[in-house]
Amino acid sequence: MASSDTTPLLAGQQPTSLPRHNPNLNNNNNNNNSNNPRHWSEETEDILGPDPNANGYQNTGAGYRRRGPPPPGSSSLPGNSSLDAQRFSGRDRPTGLKRILNCCCLPCRQALYAFQNKYTKTEKYSMAFAGLCLLLAVGFLCAYVRARDSIPLSGKNGICTSRECTIVAADILRDLKPEIDPCSDFFTFTCGGFVDRETIPDDKAQIGYFNLVSKHNQASEVIRSILSPATNNVQRGKDDAAKRNLVKLQSLFESCMDEKKMSEIGVKPLADLVQKMIKVFPATFSILDTEAPASSVSAAMAHLRDVNFGFQSASINRQKLQQLGQEDNVDDGEEMFVGEIQGNGSDEKIPLHVSVDDELPGVEDTLASEEHHNLDKRGNAGPAAAKAQREELALAITQLAWVGVTTMVDFDVDADPKNPDDNVFKLGENGLGLPSKEYYQEEKIVNIYQKTVEDMFAIVMGTPTTDGEDAASAISKSNKPPVVDWAEVAKNVVEFEKLLAAISSEQEDLDNSELTYNPRTLSEITELIPAIDWSLVLEKLLTSGSEVPNPIIVSSPEYLEKLNALLKDAPAMTLQNYFAWRLIKTLSSGLAVELRKPMQQLKAALQGVSADLVTPRWETCIDVVDNSLGAMAGHYFIEKMFQGDSKEMADSIVTSLRGSFVKGLNQLEWLDHPTLLNATEKIDLLIQKIGYSLESPDVRSADSLEDYFKDLGIDKADFFGNQIRSKTWQTNQTLGELGKPVDKAKWLMSPQTVNAYYNPSANEIVFPAGILQQPFFHGDNPEYLNYGGIGVVAGHELSHAFDNEGRLYDAHGRLADWWSNSTLEEFKTRSQCFIDQYGNFTVKDPQGRENHVNGKLTLGENLADNGGLKRSYEAWAARFKSDPHGNKFKNHLLSGLEDYSRDQLYYMAFARVWCSQRRPAKAIESLRTDPHAPAKWRVNGAVQNSPHFAEVFNCKARSGMNPDTKCDMW
Ligand SMILES: [Zn+2]
Repeated sequence: MASSDTTPLLAGQQPTSLPRHNPNLNNNNNNNNSNNPRHWSEETEDILGPDPNANGYQNTGAGYRRRGPPPPGSSSLPGNSSLDAQRFSGRDRPTGLKRILNCCCLPCRQALYAFQNKYTKTEKYSMAFAGLCLLLAVGFLCAYVRARDSIPLSGKNGICTSRECTIVAADILRDLKPEIDPCSDFFTFTCGGFVDRETIPDDKAQIGYFNLVSKHNQASEVIRSILSPATNNVQRGKDDAAKRNLVKLQSLFESCMDEKKMSEIGVKPLADLVQKMIKVFPATFSILDTEAPASSVSAAMAHLRDVNFGFQSASINRQKLQQLGQEDNVDDGEEMFVGEIQGNGSDEKIPLHVSVDDELPGVEDTLASEEHHNLDKRGNAGPAAAKAQREELALAITQLAWVGVTTMVDFDVDADPKNPDDNVFKLGENGLGLPSKEYYQEEKIVNIYQKTVEDMFAIVMGTPTTDGEDAASAISKSNKPPVVDWAEVAKNVVEFEKLLAAISSEQEDLDNSELTYNPRTLSEITELIPAIDWSLVLEKLLTSGSEVPNPIIVSSPEYLEKLNALLKDAPAMTLQNYFAWRLIKTLSSGLAVELRKPMQQLKAALQGVSADLVTPRWETCIDVVDNSLGAMAGHYFIEKMFQGDSKEMADSIVTSLRGSFVKGLNQLEWLDHPTLLNATEKIDLLIQKIGYSLESPDVRSADSLEDYFKDLGIDKADFFGNQIRSKTWQTNQTLGELGKPVDKAKWLMSPQTVNAYYNPSANEIVFPAGILQQPFFHGDNPEYLNYGGIGVVAGHELSHAFDNEGRLYDAHGRLADWWSNSTLEEFKTRSQCFIDQYGNFTVKDPQGRENHVNGKLTLGENLADNGGLKRSYEAWAARFKSDPHGNKFKNHLLSGLEDYSRDQLYYMAFARVWCSQRRPAKAIESLRTDPHAPAKWRVNGAVQNSPHFAEVFNCKARSGMNPDTKCDMW
């Protein structure tokens, strides 16, 4: 239930409205999903392509297309002679049996000559006639075989001149950079034209087909148009539920677009939430309490400076925290938050831990009370104080969770990996404000982040703009801003997060289903982390009367143990500041643009985008609708965009991939028989879903959608409130699954999503309608293009069933060991080859330094890319062979691309999907957080491992794309 960061600051996966397992719910910077579905791509919702009217793109109703004729030169053949020589090369060239049959005509002629010398004239004539007939028959046979296996240049598999063919050919040519040798850098060969032509918009971190297609889904008349008030007219005659749904969608969109109203409302709703939080989690010294007198705030400030000074000497303690997993206890006399009291003339070191009283004390009481300065580091001011803090922590983290704000732990309800028919309660880790723990070691970024925290606190807490009062006069009337130094508050928060980062698990460990499967009882969890009252946590999250979940799956017991040490020593004031920051950061996306400026500056630093340019509001608002009511919007998307036989065609492609995969498994020598049987069963039982959800809800039915979202209230005058209600609704949907069987019909992506996924606990592959567009798929495309696009995607998802994560689950979606020892050893050896290969690839950071790809983090995706490319080719080749004249499957050639064989075009279609550019800062962020390798290496890494690629492009041994070492798994 880590449902916090919907702000586009931290790029996550494509959002969906479907609550359970919503990638947003579980994909904060550090999540705990032990059996999270594998996605085909992590390209993000906030980084959309350029305006549809820019760059010459227009909507043709079937994908992205250039407006007008192809650019000059693109319709002519590429002038590269080395490529000319490859015409009809590779497997399309007659070889083997075809050559033997070509030669058979000569012996026939010799036999005829011998017969002519032995017999009478009449006999000779008869024999000659018979021989001639035989010769003709053999000749015809030879001609037939040759014709069947070579490229037909006419008929159904001849050159296609239809509009769709002309457009797709022009698109491929325009993206090419033919002067680049495909054997030295295939990505640049296929995408160099795209990279030269497209510019990353200032407000975006990247641009690629992925983003362009996503944007097309949203920007065309499809979703944007249905959100327009004018659509009401179009909907006349529709049933009532359809009308009400439309009003709901439009209300949410309007509330988001109404920035004037958002400015009028100001920060009050967010500031009020902070005040509610501090009632739940009070601190003896509170900077944030707006009702406290100025003198109390001044005392709290003095105390805050002391605490922050203590943080300065805490680096050694940070190291200690990191070591905690290896040590029995921290109870060796060292304090985590030790500093010297400044300004009181004393240099005596004292613990700065502060506990909480039942009531907020007056400042005089606080200063007079030695007790507050002399608590031991466990907070043992007495059983009552300790108990109070345990309860208050439980209340704070659960109340924040209900409004979609995660803290140091997060909650989820999801299929039990060991028993995937039942849902289970999961407890994971979370709570960092920067995208990953590595960032906390970068001084420059940390400084920018700290300034962001400071500025946002000042905006939300220091300028109470209520009742139409302007900020300046509000400050003059308030006694708070002059005494609060928000820089100190920010420092306090960031120092705490540094400690949190130090105890956080590595991303690749959190992706490991075995490492993160740790069943614990409630009492065992309480023993691990007694600083929080876990009974109260469950009471506040689950419906009353629910049984205590048993077991609870803990992602990392070590993390909880370390967190306990951190919480025991953290001053209550620091925790209060941290909780306030989590609220502000997560919910600031509901504020007017001028109140979010510091967040934009942080995004600029992290992703390299412009600090001054924000994403066009309508784009953001379509994302908001997609996040909250995605399935409802998807109803209109599939109505307009997913008709005809697309679903059947895609279904047939996916089915052929399954066949190819089973065939491939049988050819793998390293897979022993028992493991092969298990693997084959896994393919046999695999569920494939294409298009959109048919139940829970039925996206085709307005009634079903209305019922599904009935508890989510939308007010067109209250954007902030809509955001909160949506998050609470999603949280409720997620937690409500506990105690119920797993809903197998549920989709984790909305229909318009441009992505696909494999869900290991359901053993299912899922393709939303949104991805069935160019350049991935089109009904009029030749199949070699569709197989290079959606076919590879399907092969990728299938391969996930057998990657380093997917292999841990059996055919029924259970986390179970079904591998023989020797086969597993071979799997590990082969995996290491991929880890080493991708670990050698680099991307440049903003300073131009090369940074290595994390071969371990990206292993699963790399295995999937490689398996997908290989299996999809084989599936296509089998279909082409079975129907060389295109009576059943289209494999026509494309005008202007005659220089390339179908095989070559298959690989070019695969690479073209990844044509993109990314800002260096964003590239580094992805390197640390994204399990997918950078686009260039997704292409080049996969073709480097393909002997068939080297063959069809005639790549010399040891050329860039044809190294000696080739990694191979599936
Ligand atoms: Zn994937």
